[in-house]
Amino acid sequence: MEIHVVKEAGFCFGVKRAIKLAFDAVKTKNGKVYTLGPLIHNPQVVEDLRKKGVHVAKNLSRNQKGTLIIRSHGVHPEILKRIKERRIKVIDATCPFVKKAQGMAKLLYDQGYQVAVVGEAHHPEVQGIVGYTNNSALVINHNRMRKNLPHFEKLGVVAQTTLNIEAFGQVVDKLIENAEELKVCNTICHATARAQKATLKLAGKVDMMIVVGGHNSANTTRLAKLCRRLGTPTHHVETARELRRVWFKDKKSVGVTAGTSTPDWSINQVVERIKSFN
Ligand code: SF4
Repeated sequence: MEIHVVKEAGFCFGVKRAIKLAFDAVKTKNGKVYTLGPLIHNPQVVEDLRKKGVHVAKNLSRNQKGTLIIRSHGVHPEILKRIKERRIKVIDATCPFVKKAQGMAKLLYDQGYQVAVVGEAHHPEVQGIVGYTNNSALVINHNRMRKNLPHFEKLGVVAQTTLNIEAFGQVVDKLIENAEELKVCNTICHATARAQKATLKLAGKVDMMIVVGGHNSANTTRLAKLCRRLGTPTHHVETARELRRVWFKDKKSVGVTAGTSTPDWSINQVVERIKSFN
């Protein structure tokens, strides 16, 4: 059985940067180091970080002490304001691509556009972006687009950074009917776009795809969905232990890809286990 691994799979620039900032904080700061929510959507990496002194704070507590790291997803500006008011030491690891989406949303809002964010309403990145429009932005889920959207004079659209470009294009196509003037800002990050493109190329050539990454990771789940949509049998696993020998029976070629929050060691463990089934 041939095993092909997507070259672009694994940690993206934003995640690498956030992890480095967290480790630097442990080395150089006095007191506890926290991230507001898990630093990335990968339980194994979060556990590794905890062992090395980077703890997870679920919420901003009244008597928060130490250093707080804002994760790559960014936060709602209200939370940022509260952090500053409480004079908590803060390290902002918001990914520059997310900052760009927040900035675009704010610019559109300031220019009088009704802002629409295409993405998942419950995702912390999307909630943060909405905050930059004074909470006025509509969130449009690309999978369940509402049929009864009102008509707007000026509609400005941004995307969740990890959205698939085709899905974004389909929503934008429909939104043309809902606006006199439609302004579209492509805020999808290059890392996600590259990984999705390379994954789809490989998925079209192999008998089966294995997608490695946190079950709570939106971009990993999206990679698996895209492969399935292409018709390629696909399994999404968080660790090598979840692989089942029976999946590989009669398969001549297997592709392996991973989300942007999946470390190389996790991808390597999956590849080694697949090799052991050969
Ligand atoms: S997936 Fe893109 S936007 Fe998200 S952290 Fe990585 S580089 Fe930044």
